[in-house]
Amino acid sequence: MAAAVIKNPPVTSKSLFVPHLEELVGVLSSGLFSNFETVEVEIVDCPDLTKEPFTLACEGLGGKPRLVEIGGPPYLLPLVRREKLYNLTDIGKLTDVEPAFLIGAGAGPWPYAGVNCEMMINLEVKGGKVNNHTRISKVNAVDGSCVLDCLPDTETRCALLANIFCSEGKPGKVLQVICKKRIGEDDFISSIRKSLQAHYKEKAVGLGGTFLLKQGKAKQHVMPEFSVSPITTDKELEKWLHFYNMSAPLIAIGTLTSADPGLDLRLQHFHSFSHHGEGGHYHIDTEPDIVEYVGYFTVAEYVYRIDQPTDTHLLGRD
Ligand SMILES: [Zn+2]
Repeated sequence: MAAAVIKNPPVTSKSLFVPHLEELVGVLSSGLFSNFETVEVEIVDCPDLTKEPFTLACEGLGGKPRLVEIGGPPYLLPLVRREKLYNLTDIGKLTDVEPAFLIGAGAGPWPYAGVNCEMMINLEVKGGKVNNHTRISKVNAVDGSCVLDCLPDTETRCALLANIFCSEGKPGKVLQVICKKRIGEDDFISSIRKSLQAHYKEKAVGLGGTFLLKQGKAKQHVMPEFSVSPITTDKELEKWLHFYNMSAPLIAIGTLTSADPGLDLRLQHFHSFSHHGEGGHYHIDTEPDIVEYVGYFTVAEYVYRIDQPTDTHLLGRD
């Protein structure tokens, strides 16, 4: 089913506050202790992320690091805006990054999948050539199970909304964040975001990257086919989404921001995939006593806002 992507969507950008990695080690080391029993934060050479378990499209997170937010929940809720389709191969041009390594969380190309779906964006666009490791997950209409698929190099569309970390994918120094045994209420990403927010206040610090849920399970959702009746409350949204308890190892990719610099941003959004058929939108680990995370993040210099909804709301940002 052919469906047209939006050509030349409106783009705005803002610079983000960029602390030194050394400073972030201090901020996160002290901040994360309220939520996890074991916390180890250090600066390391980024491991080769093309290798197992990560299997990302590029080796590292370095070179022109940017956060990119496309569209938003207002294009999904209360009712879907099917015309909101974007080509991920345009993102490098729109943000002045070439080659462009894109990882993150979005809504998948429903014209390809035949149904609404989650998207784990993971591709490199280099000289117009696409190296696509993106996956989508959808709900099996017969038994409600989760179905995880890989996208071919030729399918590079996303729909409605996406939060993407974009860089040249070069090796280099990154933040390694290891947390074990959750003792607080916050998920891994919220605890990082809140630690940054407590320290940097109104200064917006943006991180992008990947983390591995090494041990334990996670509550994740997969969107089913678009709702035909309007979804206007959190309760209706919860009822519509399909929730799963997915098993480690899960590889998550996405972005977080400590504050919104006036672009109506989603402050955190990670999707994860696996090599055992599960994947979806990450909420929180569900076996806190045994959970283990290892994350690799870097600091973004700018945030780019593509096709920002003018008529907005706060529903569906968890
Ligand atoms: Zn999501």
